[in-house]
Amino acid sequence: MKPKTTKKTTAKKTAAPALKKPTREQAEAAVRTLISWAGDNPDREGMVNTPRRVVKSYEEFFSGYTKDPKNILSTTFTDVGGYDEMIVLRDIAFSSYCEHHMVPFTGRVHIAYLPNDRVVGLSKLARLVDVFAKRLQIQEKLTAEIANTLSDVLNPKGVAVVVEATHMCMTTRGVNKTGTVMQTSKLLGRFRSDPRTRQEFYSLINFPPHHTR
Ligand SMILES: [Zn+2]
Repeated sequence: MKPKTTKKTTAKKTAAPALKKPTREQAEAAVRTLISWAGDNPDREGMVNTPRRVVKSYEEFFSGYTKDPKNILSTTFTDVGGYDEMIVLRDIAFSSYCEHHMVPFTGRVHIAYLPNDRVVGLSKLARLVDVFAKRLQIQEKLTAEIANTLSDVLNPKGVAVVVEATHMCMTTRGVNKTGTVMQTSKLLGRFRSDPRTRQEFYSLINFPPHHTR
């Protein structure tokens, strides 16, 4: 490793500033470039409107950037009749885009938490998944973001998130292995510290019993 150099402070590394959003015309021009790069003619009849469609699709694929995840969970309920058992929502389907190749990865999310003093509507959990899924992602980050947001907002005794997904960057390119499923999990609080709680969650979602962590 190079020793740290002196005080040439001007080149100090900071977080990259947010880039100015391009215009719709600029975005469509970029799609035309990629069509040409693929080897096709963006002016042929079938593709004339493709740049417009792709840019419009992007607004949907990446709609998560315009939403605040904590806002989605802003309505919580404290009148739960003393319910303090595990709450599980399994098989939440999602589709996201891998940030390395910008191709889809799709699968299911399973979420569980142990409420402390409040719960949140189940549909809100599904919406929370979408806010993060509709951004450029890696699966590990998606998993952690969902768990951490729930932990921050609900202050529960524990949160567990498991994501199982198929990545097109692996099934349609690169090693071309179809049928592979990537599993990630983020366990917080009781799910991390108590093996029985963790096991109860895993059996509820049929998570492979040999999985340990
Ligand atoms: Zn990828």
